[in-house]
Amino acid sequence: MLKTEHIGIAVKNLSASVALFEKLLNSPCYKTEIVESENVKTAFLLAGDTKIELLESITEDGVIAKFIEKKGEGIHHIAFEVEDIYAEMERLKNEGFTLLNNEPKNGADHKLVCFLHPKNTNSVLIEICQQKK
Ligand code: ZN
Repeated sequence: MLKTEHIGIAVKNLSASVALFEKLLNSPCYKTEIVESENVKTAFLLAGDTKIELLESITEDGVIAKFIEKKGEGIHHIAFEVEDIYAEMERLKNEGFTLLNNEPKNGADHKLVCFLHPKNTNSVLIEICQQKK
């Protein structure tokens, strides 16, 4: 069974959204990080056993900028934690899911990540992530 690690939310203005979610969750942002591979600046807040990851594009044509252009701000992806990302990628591929990257990538928060194409997942972008060992 996979555990929800975080929910990613695409935002236009990271500092404004951090202030908003700090108020909403009554929990401070504990980390911000630039993820070069995704052209995003991220901020994390704890929400019980899971996290909220706020994502702002750092380039005009980054994935988050494009997402907001098409759909507006909002939930961008759901991330599930796995123990062994290689084994889980293999399992999901065999189950018929489409992996968006064939090798795990470096994600935020010391994670290896892989995304699944939303066409097989009710249009929800899914991230699987594994804590780097
Ligand atoms: Zn994420």
